Amino acid sequence: MSKPIFERVAILGLGLLGASLAHAVRRGGLAGEIAGYARSSETRDRVRELGFCDQVCDSAADAAKGADLVVLCAPVGAFGALAETIAPHLRTDCIVTDVGSVKSAVVRDVSPHIPDGVHFIPGHPIAGTEQSGPDAGFAELFDGRWCILTPIGAAEDDVSHTADRAEVEKLARFWRACGSNVDFMDPHHHDLVLAITSHLPHLIAYNIVGTAADLETVTQSDVIKYSAGGFRDFTRIAASDPTMWRDIFLNNREAVLEMLGRFTEDLSALQRAIRWGDGDALFERFSRTRTIRRSIIDAGQDSPVPDFGRHAKPGDKKA
Ligand code: NAP
Repeated sequence: MSKPIFERVAILGLGLLGASLAHAVRRGGLAGEIAGYARSSETRDRVRELGFCDQVCDSAADAAKGADLVVLCAPVGAFGALAETIAPHLRTDCIVTDVGSVKSAVVRDVSPHIPDGVHFIPGHPIAGTEQSGPDAGFAELFDGRWCILTPIGAAEDDVSHTADRAEVEKLARFWRACGSNVDFMDPHHHDLVLAITSHLPHLIAYNIVGTAADLETVTQSDVIKYSAGGFRDFTRIAASDPTMWRDIFLNNREAVLEMLGRFTEDLSALQRAIRWGDGDALFERFSRTRTIRRSIIDAGQDSPVPDFGRHAKPGDKKA
């Protein structure tokens, strides 16, 4: 158990990410007090029952009052309005951060509301599951995963070098104490990287499962029955929260469209190779991707055990 890093941590949004963060903060003894806020009274009542917050507030402003760390954990489309609501109640010297899966749009929406003296340091823990809601949270979610911080106005050659460097270091220490490895990036670069590693795979999963569902007669019989052949993994990803993913695609539009363009070109090349019986092209492509899988396992970001999603546990999938 460490010495608390913050006196009062306010977590706004108490679903998978907010609940997991509260659990991790409590596990590490990282805050004197954890205050939480969720939009609906049902969620707030459930969090009171689960007991992972010291105080569950009926308004975001009440939760943020007196906090020296505020973490936005709602869907990214709600961040601007949340920031506007809490702004007049923020303590000077407070750090405001977030866990949103896109970063440039969050900087655009939140920054205008941040009062002088308050430090806004955007962040994104690359950790998640397809579950949502307060019951889905668990303290180990961030263990061994990366958390990317995208400080604003950073020097080009050192993205952690900003005017509020001490606060950036304090926030990085907090995430390390939650179990994460910490990296720093420019928000635009973050959005491009996540567009290909997370957002596009989700779009493909939503699409392939949707296409199969449209073929209703097939879905009701053979697709479900023989789903082990890769389809089952796609259905797991495509079960992710629709609100969260709608907001991600609306708020990382440019980067996702850029990656989708490249993906479509590569898909056309594969289509041509199949049409013309070009086995060498297919073999070369599939060999290269196998190497990438190996390097992800070597980097400790997945297990080599093949289970096609059968024994998927919370924390197995990144978002
Ligand atoms: P979640 O389980 O659906 O929880 C969302 C929470 O936000 C709920 O407490 C919800 O309250 C609250 N909320 C929803 N709309 C709101 C609004 N307009 N104003 C205030 N609060 C609102 O979602 P999550 O998976 O924790 O995702 C939260 C954030 O983490 C998102 O920004 C997402 O991009 C990011 N993230 C997610 C993952 C992942 O894999 N899930 C990974 C990394 C980052 P109610 O329950 O009362 O509606």
